[in-house]
Formats: sequence, C-alpha cells, structure tokens
Amino acid sequence: MGKRVVHSLRGRKAAKIDKTTTSARFLKLITNSKPSRLVSSRVSQLKILRAPLNQYLEQFKTVDGMHCPASRCGALEEFVAHFLLACPGYTHGRWVLEKKKNKHLTLETLLGDVKFSLARKLH
Ligand SMILES: [Zn+2]
Repeated sequence: MGKRVVHSLRGRKAAKIDKTTTSARFLKLITNSKPSRLVSSRVSQLKILRAPLNQYLEQFKTVDGMHCPASRCGALEEFVAHFLLACPGYTHGRWVLEKKKNKHLTLETLLGDVKFSLARKLH
C-alpha cells in the first residue's frame, strides 16, 4: 500500500478492508479484462470507500441524508459494509452468491480475495 494512502483517513479505513489496496495485486484485480469497466470502477469505489452510497454522497449535498434508500431497510446510514453485508434490500443477492461459492461473505472475500472478487461475480 502506498505511503500517501496509508496516512490518509480513507486509506486507513480501506486498509482495514483490504491491505492490498493500491498494490500490484489490487491493480491487477481492477484491470482484469473480464469484468466490464463499470464493474471494475464500482469495485474500486467500494474498496476506497468512495462508492456512490448515501454516506459518501451526503458530504456533497447530492442526497437528502445518509439513510439507506433500500426498501425494507431503514438504516440511518448507507455505507460500504452495510450495503455489501447487512442491508436487507440485498439479502437475496448475498444468499445466491454465498450458495454459488459456498463461502461466507465478508468485506475481505468480496473486495480483497482475488479468487472471490466481487468483480468476477458481478460480471
Ligand atoms: Zn440498507
């Protein structure tokens, strides 16, 4: 991980998810020719905590608040871990992915494990 990234608040948060962020392995993952550019971009945004989720967008005043917009949810903040692991609006998608890979979903498996990358599953 690059020094500038490690010293920023966002870099420290991203490092908790995946210590390979901005490493050669991370760059290889996001430049994989199989996933589309949009999917690679979304995975990268999730990894560096700049995904277009309300917790991030709220600082730019482009949304009314940080609450999760998914139906059946009602969480006060929509952030990466909530979106990927906890939001009831995406329970079925997570269930399908877990059954397909027979593996418990974590931020590390979804965003950090090259063999189990979210980019490959979304493609
Ligand atoms: Zn939610």
